[in-house]
Amino acid sequence: MKGRINSIYTGSALDGPGIRTVVFFQGCPLRCIYCHNPETHDFSGGEEIEAEVLFSKLNRYCAYYGKNGGVTFSGGEALCQAEFLCEILELCKGAGIHTALDTSGCVDTPAAKRAVQLADLVILDIKMNSEEDYKRYTGGSFSAVLDFLEFCGKAGTDTWLRKVIVPGINDTKQCVSELAHIAQTYKCVKKTELLPFEKLCTEKYKRLGITFPLEDTPAMDKAALAELEKILYAE
Ligand code: SF4
Repeated sequence: MKGRINSIYTGSALDGPGIRTVVFFQGCPLRCIYCHNPETHDFSGGEEIEAEVLFSKLNRYCAYYGKNGGVTFSGGEALCQAEFLCEILELCKGAGIHTALDTSGCVDTPAAKRAVQLADLVILDIKMNSEEDYKRYTGGSFSAVLDFLEFCGKAGTDTWLRKVIVPGINDTKQCVSELAHIAQTYKCVKKTELLPFEKLCTEKYKRLGITFPLEDTPAMDKAALAELEKILYAE
């Protein structure tokens, strides 16, 4: 079947284990205030591609994936095209390619659940720590993300948690302690990472004619992030 993707990035060392090819799916139902990929929001953007054609592109880089690497499906929100995603996941599985699903965990459909079962790894963003903040800063739901995390455990899929730390929004010790608590509660969680809010996307927003809501917010200070990481790894 066909799906819509925005772009393919090869040679990433930041989107899961090893060296990976990242597929950015087109379309996202959320509007995170710090989003770095606003060009993936529009469900009618990007380009249509057959699952088999996409797979053949991904398989071409097979030799570079090595023992630990593979393909990461990101976006946008890949689970909004879960049937298409499942088809590619099955093709990758058949070829022995490691697959990771980078998701906001905001989609709860039978096909999305099947994708979680098929993926070797889920990388789940825990963007905020309360229902109120989720709604305010992302348009999503905290309880839905926790339900999703619970399902990752039931599916037996290893899960990494990620949180983008944004100055003045979620850069507190309490936020990080709560994240550590979530990581300890759900046994499928194998790793937790903090990512610094950066402003590399400012130009993209300008090109798209969209106001970047955090234009006046500074990038996250690396030393302050390191202090928060100490809390995360001490808990
Ligand atoms: S879920 Fe990802 S792509 Fe969608 S708005 Fe949030 S950061 Fe952007």
